Amino acid sequence: MKPIAIIGAGFTGLTAAIELLKHGHQVIVLEQDSDVGGLAGSFKIDGGYDLEKFYHHWFTNDRYITDLVNELGEEGEIVIRPSRTGMYFNNSMFRLSTPLDVLRFNPLSMVNRIRLGLLVFQARAIQDWKSIEHLNVREWLVGLCGEKVYEVVWEPLIRAKFSIYADDLSATWFWKKLQLRGSSRNSSGGEALAYYRGGFAALAARMQREIIARGGELRLGDAAKRIVANGDQVSAVITDNGEAIEVAGVLATPALPIVANILDGAVGDDFLLKLRRVNYLANKCLVLVLNKSLSETYWLNVNDPDFPFVGVIEHTNFEPIESYGGRHIVYMSRYLPHTDPVYDMSAFTLLDYAEPYIKKMFPDFTKDWVVETHAWSARYAQPVTERNYSSYVPGQETPLDNFWISTMAQVYPEDRGTNYAIREGKNIAAKIQSTLLVE
Ligand SMILES: Cc1cc2nc3c(=O)[nH]c(=O)nc-3n(C[C@H](O)[C@H](O)[C@H](O)COP(=O)(O)OP(=O)(O)OC[C@H]3O[C@@H](n4cnc5c(N)ncnc54)[C@H](O)[C@@H]3O)c2cc1C
Repeated sequence: MKPIAIIGAGFTGLTAAIELLKHGHQVIVLEQDSDVGGLAGSFKIDGGYDLEKFYHHWFTNDRYITDLVNELGEEGEIVIRPSRTGMYFNNSMFRLSTPLDVLRFNPLSMVNRIRLGLLVFQARAIQDWKSIEHLNVREWLVGLCGEKVYEVVWEPLIRAKFSIYADDLSATWFWKKLQLRGSSRNSSGGEALAYYRGGFAALAARMQREIIARGGELRLGDAAKRIVANGDQVSAVITDNGEAIEVAGVLATPALPIVANILDGAVGDDFLLKLRRVNYLANKCLVLVLNKSLSETYWLNVNDPDFPFVGVIEHTNFEPIESYGGRHIVYMSRYLPHTDPVYDMSAFTLLDYAEPYIKKMFPDFTKDWVVETHAWSARYAQPVTERNYSSYVPGQETPLDNFWISTMAQVYPEDRGTNYAIREGKNIAAKIQSTLLVE
């Protein structure tokens, strides 16, 4: 039996592989990186502790992750903890974890604080997201919460996160965020978040073991370069080292422009153009291992347009320092076009660049606190769901009968996330299964 090739060992590819193996298919997973996990992948800090390259957590209502963990027999490995959220605005820190924090948020008048607090309920009341898809975030939000709330709280975040595309972003993206975020709360109204014991690395490794145990093949450091197609059927995948792997079908999970490169020459230009139409922003993340804590906040939104980072995430205010040999872990995140000079900065240059801003926010900070400095870049970090995204985002089918695409740009109207990667990995495996029945 020829295998189904899965391109990419992120959470979509890993999930789909397990599902197809369960149905008796042969599976070969090709991953260009040296490890599994994709954007939710990890690296080792000194002492051998695994740490996500980019900050990761789940919301308590991320049910596909819970289902998967239970199916793997690992129930009990998900831990739920309260999270402290804050905002840096006008040289000051504000807590924004609970409804009471919102009521105390004095950069806004009391009326506007109430409007801010009510937004989640207004968003939840909207069911038909297509009715707001043609609006950008500003056009939708100002009507709901007013100019001032938008300008103080939301606009700086949207601009920092979506950079050159901020004015094109569809209101639907923001609507879904409000809907989901508002329902990841504990009984006192504070936000609670979930994590895996041992981090995302431990879960990805568990999925990798499951694939091997079920007879699947996982090739790390082996990229898919192009395919061979006969008519409307893909017959082989050509890897970077020139090997041709004969296949029964292919599932591609990387970003759509990468999939376009793999399909180039095998399908018409109009389909390639469709894949390349979806814009993505890159992310640059400075990861600091510190011997002191910066603050008590886990997630600090930076609402200052002069700051080059959208958020400061002190991971060890969520996962205890004992998991990292007593060190404190801080991420400083920036979304940017990949052509921005910051994207290519080395870890040490990025720390030099960030230092004055860190000191401005946390005046006690000195470089002596820094034990390790790392920097990670992801070219395709955030798909940009522009106005009317549903009218142009490609579906999972392609002009080839046995080549499917399932990527984080297609989880719309939800935003990317490992929970949805798992949901989509299962869905696409079911679709492939119904087309390529095992003889
Ligand atoms: C800064 C940041 C923070 C995030 N925070 C969270 C969070 O808190 N919680 C959460 O759930 N999600 C978070 N996410 C999103 C989450 O990481 C993604 O939604 C999820 O990992 C996507 O999984 P995927 O398998 O669909 O894609 P990917 O992880 O992108 O996997 C695709 C894989 O394909 C591989 N690949 C690419 N080209 C080739 C090729 N030619 N041949 C072989 N392999 C190839 C890539 O190396 C990669 O491993 C975050 C993402 C970023 C960037």
